[in-house]
Amino acid sequence: MQSTNSQSYKSAFFISLIYFILGVLWIILSDYTVALISSDESKITLLQLYKGWFFIFVTTVILFFLINRYFHSMQLQYNKNLEQIQKYQLSKENLKISQSELSKYEKLLTTIINSSPDAIFAKDLDGKYILFNDTALKMANMASDEVLGKSDKMIFTPEDRLKLKEDDKAVIDSGQTITREEDILTNEGAKKTFLITKGVLLDRTDTIFGLFGIARDITEQKEHERFLLESKDKFYNLSHLDTVTNLPNRLHISEVLVEKCSQKVPFSLIILDLDEFKIVNDSYGHRFGDKLLCEVSKVLVEVFDATAFLARMGGDEFGIIVNLSDKKEIDALMQKLHSKFTSPFKIEMVDVYITASSGICIYPDDARSMEEMYQAADTAMNNAKKLGKNSFSFYNAELKKEAVVYTQMVTNLKQAIQKSELELYFQPQNDVKTGKIVGVEALLRWKSEGKMIPPDVFIPLAEKSALIVEIGDFVLKSGFETAKRWHELGVLKGRIAINVSARQLIHLDFIKTLKAMLKESGCEASWIELEITESSVLENPQLVINLLEQLRALGFYISMDDFGTGYSSLSYLKNLPIDKLKIDRSFIMNIREQPKNQTIVKTIIFLAKELGIHILAEGVETEEEHSFLLENKIDSIQGYYYAKPMPLYDIERLLQA
Ligand code: C2E
Ligand code: CA
Ligand code: CA
Repeated sequence: MQSTNSQSYKSAFFISLIYFILGVLWIILSDYTVALISSDESKITLLQLYKGWFFIFVTTVILFFLINRYFHSMQLQYNKNLEQIQKYQLSKENLKISQSELSKYEKLLTTIINSSPDAIFAKDLDGKYILFNDTALKMANMASDEVLGKSDKMIFTPEDRLKLKEDDKAVIDSGQTITREEDILTNEGAKKTFLITKGVLLDRTDTIFGLFGIARDITEQKEHERFLLESKDKFYNLSHLDTVTNLPNRLHISEVLVEKCSQKVPFSLIILDLDEFKIVNDSYGHRFGDKLLCEVSKVLVEVFDATAFLARMGGDEFGIIVNLSDKKEIDALMQKLHSKFTSPFKIEMVDVYITASSGICIYPDDARSMEEMYQAADTAMNNAKKLGKNSFSFYNAELKKEAVVYTQMVTNLKQAIQKSELELYFQPQNDVKTGKIVGVEALLRWKSEGKMIPPDVFIPLAEKSALIVEIGDFVLKSGFETAKRWHELGVLKGRIAINVSARQLIHLDFIKTLKAMLKESGCEASWIELEITESSVLENPQLVINLLEQLRALGFYISMDDFGTGYSSLSYLKNLPIDKLKIDRSFIMNIREQPKNQTIVKTIIFLAKELGIHILAEGVETEEEHSFLLENKIDSIQGYYYAKPMPLYDIERLLQA
């Protein structure tokens, strides 16, 4: 203001000085000029009057312009000032408003930050806290003055600090917002899981001055997730795991097979089936059997490496998927596997000798889908069973043909009865001392399209396909009718022995059917001998013993066929309601050269005599065999030594002779 004053003094003084100089110059020069123009007194007075007026006029004009300029500039300055004043007043007003707004927003923000269920915090670049919301304080169990301005050291364990520091560094180095899950140990010593989001804080020049963080306690959620996952796992395990061996089950291996087939990479499926496992199960009980299955699963784990997929398919069947397709390599592996079955498994101090049969099918050469793979491996496994115990077999086109032939044969067999292709042959059973016929065994024959199909082939087929019940009924019916006829003719003193397979025997209607057939044919039960195999008793001892008792009560004579092949102990015999034992042909063959078989046969004969059971030897062909049996006091003999099975007409002639 002072400088403005002195400036205006200077300007006023300068203008006045010029005016003064001009005025003085004007007076001097104009008077001089007037004196030059005229010397006439009256003229000079007049000129001086004009000069005076001219001076007034000129100074008036100058004064006008000067005053006008001055006022104009004054006005401009005034306007400018006014504008500034207005602006100033406006900004003052604005400032007032924004300050109140600011405190309003600050309050709002603080409220929001503090009422968040998440911990919210901010740190400066030195790692000192500049913000720590109520939730964070509650979580840390601290007061705000204990935290603000302090570092992590006050709150976290050294290990947690290290993790958090790394996170902070990553955020500041990258300038990015980062979200991570961290397990943090709380002050109370509980481990909690937090989902932590961190990002940088920027000032007006976009320079990082710190970082902020939002931490959510997700411990419960995590636990819930874990629980769900575990439950899912448990459920998956329950439905995909075999509880006996802890190996994956059939469902699981099927899923793997489907996937494998879709990948189009060669691999192999092996199906391993234990031989005669049922006998172990029935003799020692299910718990024992389960233990054996576990031991077998251990062998599989031992033989196959971790890339193989092992499963228990159910029962005594295991499935193995191996990433091999080279037959030589698989062969070597199978040799190793089957060698494990040559020594016994030790279970509950008992040495159990069990063997297995395996079938191998290679993708994609043998089969291309899960179903085909199963079928092919199964066919190969069945072939291995045929090859003998403890063998393995690869699937091949020949087996496929056999399978087709098998299906065809089942179809043909179904029609065999209607087409009258089935016929009974009869083989005599002779008294060993007198040689007289004391009974006959009825043996079934099938003439299919002019070819004779042996019962060893079609009976197992019929047993598998359940046709055996229908076929068995045919045999019983024909046998009963023949017995009735021979009784009327008076040709047979003894009985007709009829083979009854296990499946037929345990059929619910068996006894009812027998009764009905007896009634219909007029045959008496006492004319008939029912042959039951040792293995069918072993398959279901309690049920079979019960059935045999009922049959005996009806008047039937019961004999046990193929005795010695079913691994039953001799002491077992006394519990069986049987009248006759048939020693299997395998013990009789070349008996003179088989000291072991001689001992077995002698023991069986001795025991049967002790128990009052009739004893017959099957498959006697030679004089040596016959004489041995005679020496050892066998009761009767059935074999080619006397006669082969023959048609009805022939046997009737033989009987009448
Ligand atoms: P299986 O019941 O053990 O019958 C004895 C078998 O031995 C008969 O064979 C008979 O011909 C044969 N055989 C008898 N003596 C000798 C001999 O001295 N040497 C030799 N090498 N063999 C002899 P087949 O008739 O071929 O019957 C085989 C099997 O088929 C029978 O064995 C039996 O298990 C079954 N089978 C036959 N007919 C029937 C039937 O009607 N029902 C059932 N369920 N099975 C039957
Ligand atoms: Ca028989
Ligand atoms: Ca037999």
